[in-house]
Amino acid sequence: MSKFVLLINFNYEPLNFITEKRALKLYFKNKVDVISNWQQGITYSGGEFKIPSILKLKKYIKRYIHNPIYSKYNLVLRDKSICQYCNKLITGKNLTLDHIIPISRGGKSNYTNVVVSCFNCNNNKGNRTPEESNMPVLKKPEKPNFSFIDYFEDKLNGCWHEDWKDYIPR
Ligand SMILES: [Zn+2]
Repeated sequence: MSKFVLLINFNYEPLNFITEKRALKLYFKNKVDVISNWQQGITYSGGEFKIPSILKLKKYIKRYIHNPIYSKYNLVLRDKSICQYCNKLITGKNLTLDHIIPISRGGKSNYTNVVVSCFNCNNNKGNRTPEESNMPVLKKPEKPNFSFIDYFEDKLNGCWHEDWKDYIPR
């Protein structure tokens, strides 16, 4: 299984998780310093190389800001794939987005009016408000404020290096 490499800025801010391949490229271009390694090594034409677990950029780059633009991806991330009406975990095609105040009634497409909903709840609620349908929203939806790790939890898929905890707020 391939490992992820935490890329940190010159000032130690976490920036991204990158692949081994990308990590090697940065290393051989002399753009990074190795802070710590995985146990495993990779062989390449020039010999063997320990897979880094943390790389630090030699030059400061302007920070990538996690501005949560309005998107289905970010809504699902915010609501953790849980139907905001019946509290069930939803997968696949059952996952829909529901406008709390329907568009036809003047509802907007934004973080405070759209929630993740299962197909059944969405269908039952139809063109009605929560009051009319007697389907209250579990919690008042807000613009999410994701932490660094929120964005990568799925991608990392359980991959974790102990040294990362010094750089990433969890
Ligand atoms: Zn539901």
